Amino acid sequence: MDNENNEEEINRKRKNFFTHNENRRCKEGEGEEKEDQEKNGFLDLDLTLMFRSTTRPRLQSPENNNNNLPSLSLPPPTLYLQVQSILASTPPIEASPQVQSARRPRKSSRVAREGMNEAIPPPFPWATSHRATVHSLEYLLSKQLFKVSGEVQCKRCERKYQMEFDLKEKFLEIGSYIAENKSAMHDRAPDIWMNPILPTCQFCKQENSVKPVVCADKSNINWLFLLLGKMLGCCTLDELKYFCEHTKNHRTGAKDRVLYLAYLTLCKQLDPNGPFDR
Ligand SMILES: [Zn+2]
Repeated sequence: MDNENNEEEINRKRKNFFTHNENRRCKEGEGEEKEDQEKNGFLDLDLTLMFRSTTRPRLQSPENNNNNLPSLSLPPPTLYLQVQSILASTPPIEASPQVQSARRPRKSSRVAREGMNEAIPPPFPWATSHRATVHSLEYLLSKQLFKVSGEVQCKRCERKYQMEFDLKEKFLEIGSYIAENKSAMHDRAPDIWMNPILPTCQFCKQENSVKPVVCADKSNINWLFLLLGKMLGCCTLDELKYFCEHTKNHRTGAKDRVLYLAYLTLCKQLDPNGPFDR
């Protein structure tokens, strides 16, 4: 009788010990694990895969193709938002809040440390008062801002004029390209971004001839126009470094690296929930 009780007691203690340690290990280890995942880019990869698996069939389905342009009653970021909600509902449930809470303090301390909060008058309706920062797509569409314009100049006839891009259409194009190709980019801009094909001149009809006029005052550069025209590669290394400096990207280096960061960062500003983590 005594022996049985003892055995029960021992089993109970053993069970408690393991459960306790198991819990502790989860709690203590989680932070480090998340750090590792971030470093190795596993989370980024997950996002990319999720984005692929949820959007590919949609993009390929004929009804979607038909509806693609005319009846976009929902803004494109719903594609990305959908990914987020799938991620949030997959175990471990704490994954996304954990990552966010781990990142947030780091970001804000950086901002404070380097005085990047200095406001400037927004140089364009789509720009914010923070340097090198644009409003989100959701905000812009809610303000009925559908077109983004900028100044260009033809290399042949040298005429300067204003050109405009459809915000939703161009962003969806760029966002999908990044989601599909990001894993193969290895943090470097592909050749098509480094040496962009320029638009045709609307006056002399010369192909690949219209380049953006990039403002000499860097705080007035029309970043969103450059992104939508896929012409960020027309910026100098110095201009791209300025962008990175003011958007908390501390990695400097060759032009293909800073150009890659500029593309990803601007897309992230437009759609903070999209698969655009650097
Ligand atoms: Zn021309």
